[in-house]
Amino acid sequence: MLIDGEKWACEACVRGHRVTTCKHHDRPLIRINRKGRPFSTCSVCNNTPCPTPEEHTKLKREAEAKSSSKVQCDHAPPPETPLNL
Ligand SMILES: [Zn+2]
Ligand SMILES: [Zn+2]
Repeated sequence: MLIDGEKWACEACVRGHRVTTCKHHDRPLIRINRKGRPFSTCSVCNNTPCPTPEEHTKLKREAEAKSSSKVQCDHAPPPETPLNL
């Protein structure tokens, strides 16, 4: 249901995806956040919201891919790899 322009629903209706049709005024209500993700601070440029989210999401993914491949390869480097490049 809508109260003062905000969406509210009881827990059962939130879980059942019946937020808009909830009429359970007798139950404790939960405020539903607006559709879409709330603006989050970009970890790449530290702006809220990020001016170039697509670009920075890509950068973040690339960084994550790199760090996850590091985790898989945490053993000693192969002997043929020179340590002081
Ligand atoms: Zn309800
Ligand atoms: Zn950014």
